[in-house]
Amino acid sequence: MKQHNGGAQDAWQGVSAPLRPLAKALPEHARAHNRSLVLQHLFHEGATSRADLARVTGLNRVTASDLVAVLLAEGLVTELGAHHQGKVGKPAILVAMRTAAFQIVTVDVATGRTVRGRLVDLRGHLLREAEVDTGGRSGAALTALVVRFVRRLLSLASAPVIGVGVAAPGIVDAAGVVVESPSRGWFGVPLADELTRALGVPVFVANDANAAVLCEYTFGGAGGAGLMVLLVAEGVGAGLMLDGARVRGNSDGAGEIGHVRVVEEGGLSCSCGRFGCLETVLSVRALEDRLAGLDEEAVQETLSQVGTQLGIALAPVVSVLNLAEVVLSGPRSLLAGTVRERAEREVQERTMPAIGRGFRIRMAARSGDDIQAGAAVLVLSRRLGVS
Ligand SMILES: [Zn+2]
Repeated sequence: MKQHNGGAQDAWQGVSAPLRPLAKALPEHARAHNRSLVLQHLFHEGATSRADLARVTGLNRVTASDLVAVLLAEGLVTELGAHHQGKVGKPAILVAMRTAAFQIVTVDVATGRTVRGRLVDLRGHLLREAEVDTGGRSGAALTALVVRFVRRLLSLASAPVIGVGVAAPGIVDAAGVVVESPSRGWFGVPLADELTRALGVPVFVANDANAAVLCEYTFGGAGGAGLMVLLVAEGVGAGLMLDGARVRGNSDGAGEIGHVRVVEEGGLSCSCGRFGCLETVLSVRALEDRLAGLDEEAVQETLSQVGTQLGIALAPVVSVLNLAEVVLSGPRSLLAGTVRERAEREVQERTMPAIGRGFRIRMAARSGDDIQAGAAVLVLSRRLGVS
């Protein structure tokens, strides 16, 4: 494996192509780009001959063969032997990605008082998992706990680990600095750098909802043209993909929809210090508190009201960004029925037909483990250009 090269990595991922060139194209950018084209195809389409790799990537045969030679030497791909593709000509040798030959550690620091972690292969298949109670730690003490926890997971690895993906709540910038995470006591913490230095393995950090959107894109079959994943847990946040790229926004806060006011009068107080935010009606605890002790009719009435409030909050976002779908990640028992249906209808009624007609709200493909699966995609995309 090549060592992490920031410049080349950034050329493949995360940021949509700028409208005007901002720096000269370097040869290593082109190599990294082409290499990721080859790996991307092998990851999603399976074993392929060198000739077909050249055809589908648009590379010439020599370039494609050279790239395969480098990937073979690195152990990232293997040859599967001869394969007859037609009646004439000599059989082609297929090349496949060795997705079980490397591993990834994923960590979810976003959920409650527990830090959860997994060791997975490059396809995201679970090999080992572990969790640890934070014991109420925050700030530097929590960082130290995460270091010890990841060390334990790394010690369980049975193949080289290409990286560690960490999902954290709050605002995280492109370099893995946790800009603001009140619940974890991290403010301006260069978490990716600190963990990389402590562990000796490349570590990448993303916001939890942004990890979830990567999971939907890579493992959930979602298109990246206009996708929002709305994470409903302790808080409410969203991750966005537009035109094939993750949306970060001006200060890395894109997707922070939980603190948009949806209750105009008599709203409950919110963790942000204001009143009537979306989070005060849609977070898991808010929903459970409101539904406690109600009969079935009142439950449906309440869920319908919440769905309407969600739809009202989503409609301008869906319309401005022309989103194809909003994916709900959270408890099915609370979200999959009335809330989902009511919110979808509300958005359709509040947007022009060309936008609302094809728009859907659905449940996440892998609700429950999408944050960790997305943390694995974070590593795949940053290390291999695959997502
Ligand atoms: Zn709020």
